[in-house]
Amino acid sequence: MREIRLDPLRKEWIVISSDRGSRPMTVAEKKACPFCRGAPETIGKSAPYWLPNAFPMLSPNEKKVQGENNYFKKIPAKGYSEVIVESFDHYADLCDLNAQQLKEAMLLYKDRYVELSKQSFVKAVLIFRNLGKLIGVSIEHPHSQIYAVPYIPPIIREEINSSKKACPICATLSKNDDRTLFEDDLIKAILPYAPRWPYEGHIIPKRHLASLADASDDELAHLGKAIGRLIGCYHHVFEVKMPYILAFHQAPTANYNKKIHLHVEIYPALRASDKMKHWSGAEVGFGVYTYDFLPEDKAKQLADICKKYKDVPIPSKGIPEPAALRRAVALRELFLG
Ligand SMILES: [Zn+2]
Ligand SMILES: [Zn+2]
Ligand SMILES: [Zn+2]
Repeated sequence: MREIRLDPLRKEWIVISSDRGSRPMTVAEKKACPFCRGAPETIGKSAPYWLPNAFPMLSPNEKKVQGENNYFKKIPAKGYSEVIVESFDHYADLCDLNAQQLKEAMLLYKDRYVELSKQSFVKAVLIFRNLGKLIGVSIEHPHSQIYAVPYIPPIIREEINSSKKACPICATLSKNDDRTLFEDDLIKAILPYAPRWPYEGHIIPKRHLASLADASDDELAHLGKAIGRLIGCYHHVFEVKMPYILAFHQAPTANYNKKIHLHVEIYPALRASDKMKHWSGAEVGFGVYTYDFLPEDKAKQLADICKKYKDVPIPSKGIPEPAALRRAVALRELFLG
């Protein structure tokens, strides 16, 4: 059963998808991997490629739902869930790809964004990526995902509202700050002014682009390289594989107004080589985020690493998994016998 219910207090939509609870939670082995070359799902495809999600949270065929009233509203979970696989290499993160592969990945993100935006019931196309078993990724082969949803998510709504009169991102770019990680003529990477994650990074096109749809091939190439570079640097912060979440923030659909400024936010999950950043009572219970460092210090540390790792590919193979993961695996084996 799938539907989208409105939380009457917070006015936030929650996607209810009861059958997704049974999706496999174990990490697929390489030999059974659905994304490697030769898997039935990939026949006839060359990388990068996209596929429908095998366990979709949304479906284009959802029918109207019954039972609405003032307090308990719901809408059909009508939309699309897709997977984007950037490389056939089972162990290649984005930093392991070369500049051409990264550009092709960005072109594919753009294509899917534009294509899914054409459906009238799609109100937002969300491109994101989760990497690392520590943050619950179920298929080891690195990949990105797209949800095309029938409402505008709260974080995008807030960013649109903040950009109505003037663009805060253009204002950020025009300032010389000490949180720059690296830049070139088209792209700037920063640690944000008020970060939530210890090593949070934002990658921003210098031109005010509302979305990938407005980006030139050159801008996409630079954006892809910057994403690969920053991810590569994250794996070298502690010299362990950095689990992370990446999200494209942009106009919810290609035909939306141009006020919001496209940027990519990356949230690396470690705060030390053996410690995860966990959300606790203040954050989860109230949305009160705390940052236990000086953002400018963390930016300096990260910028120094980015000076060393300038060009993609930055190989991540051979970099060990974090100790926290090794402990979690040991614990699981203890319980499972
Ligand atoms: Zn694979
Ligand atoms: Zn702007
Ligand atoms: Zn954002």
